[in-house]
Amino acid sequence: MTYPALAGLALWLAPSRCAGCDLPFDAAATGLCPACAPLLEPTPYPLCPPQPAAAAFVFQGPLADAVRRFKYAGRTELAKPLGWLLAQSAMAYAGAVERVVPMPLHSGKLRQRGYNPAALLARSVARQLGVPLDVGILTRVRPTGAQAGLPREARVQNVRGAFRADPTVASARLLLIDDVRTTGATLAEAGATLGAQGHEVRTLAFAWTPS
Ligand SMILES: [Zn+2]
Repeated sequence: MTYPALAGLALWLAPSRCAGCDLPFDAAATGLCPACAPLLEPTPYPLCPPQPAAAAFVFQGPLADAVRRFKYAGRTELAKPLGWLLAQSAMAYAGAVERVVPMPLHSGKLRQRGYNPAALLARSVARQLGVPLDVGILTRVRPTGAQAGLPREARVQNVRGAFRADPTVASARLLLIDDVRTTGATLAEAGATLGAQGHEVRTLAFAWTPS
């Protein structure tokens, strides 16, 4: 078992902590304490009717702290409250998608981190939409490095050709889930790769951060 997995397991067994400020509290469905919950800021991207590219929350405040712990500090137990929050936005897609697909990590990065945060969120969304999770349909065929700090056009170039869609899978209506979206260049490339195989793709990120 990797270190991040052990850290996550230890926290499953510990008393509930707020996903935002990390202080102990009596758990709520949102995973956020009464001080942090009002600070959640939905994005200006409306989710209903479903948009081709959407994000649920602005990456700021306690939500940004929660995402950093979830993505970079092995706090996989945060998939539960963050997945629940994302699923509330994803319900706008209920009935409109047949499968949920996580944004894949390159295999080297997956080994290094030990888990794919987007896949943990996607699993929660799939469960709450009542549709299958498909982790095999889309793969990342080359590492792309960090998008942060790159101007928009460089981001588009950086991810071009980075994905492969399984050509043997019959076309379907898919919901592609990512954890954090900036310009949306990575989601757009992944969505286009799936679209080229005949799939109808909507994308939803948990958090949106201005570039
Ligand atoms: Zn809190």
